[in-house]
Amino acid sequence: MSRTLRFEALLTDDGWLEPAYVALDRNGALLSLSCRPPARGAGPAEITSYENVGGFALPGYPNAHSHAFQYAMAGSAEHLPPDAAGDDFWSWREAMYRLALSLSADEIETIATMLYAEMLRQGYTAVAEFHYLHHDPAGKHYADPAEIGGRLVAAAETAKIRLTLVPIFYQRGGFGREADPRQRRFLSASVDEYQRLLEASEAAVRRSPRATLGVGVHSLRAVDPESAVTLLEEADPKLPRHLHIAEQQREVDECLAALGARPVEWLSARLALDDRYHLVHATHIDADESATLARSKANVVLCPTTEGNLGDGFFPLRPFLEQGGRFSIGSDSQIGLAPNEELRLLDYGQRLRSERRNVVCLQGGDDSGARLFAQALHNGRRAMGLDSKAFFEVGAPFDALVYDTDFPPLALARRERRLSTIVYCCDASALVGTIVGGRFVVRDGHHIEGERLRERYRRLAARR
Ligand SMILES: [Zn+2]
Repeated sequence: MSRTLRFEALLTDDGWLEPAYVALDRNGALLSLSCRPPARGAGPAEITSYENVGGFALPGYPNAHSHAFQYAMAGSAEHLPPDAAGDDFWSWREAMYRLALSLSADEIETIATMLYAEMLRQGYTAVAEFHYLHHDPAGKHYADPAEIGGRLVAAAETAKIRLTLVPIFYQRGGFGREADPRQRRFLSASVDEYQRLLEASEAAVRRSPRATLGVGVHSLRAVDPESAVTLLEEADPKLPRHLHIAEQQREVDECLAALGARPVEWLSARLALDDRYHLVHATHIDADESATLARSKANVVLCPTTEGNLGDGFFPLRPFLEQGGRFSIGSDSQIGLAPNEELRLLDYGQRLRSERRNVVCLQGGDDSGARLFAQALHNGRRAMGLDSKAFFEVGAPFDALVYDTDFPPLALARRERRLSTIVYCCDASALVGTIVGGRFVVRDGHHIEGERLRERYRRLAARR
C-alpha cells in the first residue's frame, strides 16, 4: 500500500516544491514528488487521503565520521589537570585511551544507541562509524571478531538510524613505533587478521536492512603505510574507503621524517585516489596537496566542532572549493551533534580568518547555505557508499528533516533564502521531526524510543 505525505514545502534540486505531496511505497521508498495531491481513478477532482505533515522538508544529513564510544567523554576533558600549564590534542588522546579501556561491550552498545538517537534528534539520518574498538578490555579477541561492530549495528537498529560500519585497520602507536599497551583493543596483527574482521563485519551488517559496510585504515601513522595502500587498493571496489589524515601538524612532521613526504602527498603518489575515498580532517595540507585532492575527486571529511575542540587548525576551505574540492561533515568525537552547527563553525572559522563574509560563495548570486548543504549531503552520502545525484531520489528511502514553518526566522524567510536560514539560524528546537524510511523516528523533540533509551542510560550512568 502506498502512502502520501503533504509538506508545506520540500527542497528539491530545482528549489522548493510548494506544497509538496510525497508518495511512498510500503517500505518508505519515494515513488513520486508533486505539488498536486494524488488523484484516484479517472476523476481529477477525486482526492485520495494523505497525511498532512506540514513543515519544510529537506533531506536528512549524513554524518560521515563518528567514533560512538567517545560520546561517553564528551564535555569531560574541558579543564587543565592541576599540574599542567597547557593542553593539546595528545593529552585528550590519553583520556580517550583510558575511556576505551573502561567500557564493556554492553556499555558500548548502550552509549551508541543513545548517541544515534540523539543524532536523529539533531538532524542526522545516517552515520558512518569509523570503528576501531575491536577487542575486549584486556585486548583478548572476542569469539566473533566483529562483536563490537555487531553491537553498533544493533544500536543503529534500535535507534533507527542508517549505519555504515567501517571497521578500521590499526597496527601501531605512531610512525615506526610499536603499539602502546593502551591501544590493545584496537589492533590487527596483520592484513590477514583485518580481512577476517572485515568479513565478520560484513556478516554483522547483513543482520540489519539499515546497515552497510565500508573499509578503513586508521591513519598512515597507525599502520604499515605500504600495507595500508595494498589493503585500500585491493578492497571490494564498491566499498567506501575511509582514513584519518593530517589532523595535527606533529603528524605531518613525523610523516615527513618517516616517509620523506607529507601525508596527502605520500598517499596520492601511491594510490589512485577517487570519489570512493574519504580523507578525514586533512587539516594540514599545502596548496599542491589541496589541488591534488580536488582533482582526484576524493572527499575530505571535515569535523569542525571536534577540530575546534581539539585545537587541530583550520582547513583551507576556500582554495579547495575553488579547485572543485568535495567535503562532507562528521561529528567525530561527539562534542557536537548538530549538523547545522558543523557547517556554521566551518564557515565562521573561514570568515574570522579572512575578515570576509560568504567566503564559500564562489561567484555572484551564490548562496552560502545552499553550497554548504549540497556538499555535506552529496559527499556525505558517498561516505556511506551511496551514489548521490538528487536531494530526493525516486526509489531511495525517504529520509527527511521537517522544520517548523512558524519558527520566527523561517516564518519571515523568503523562499530562496529559506535553506540558508535553516543552516545559519536553526537548531534542533526548530525541528518538527526526523523521518527515516517514511516514518517519524523523532517528533516534537522526542525520539520514539526516548524514554526506554533514557532509562537504560540512567542505569549505565549509575554504574559508572
Ligand atoms: Zn576520527
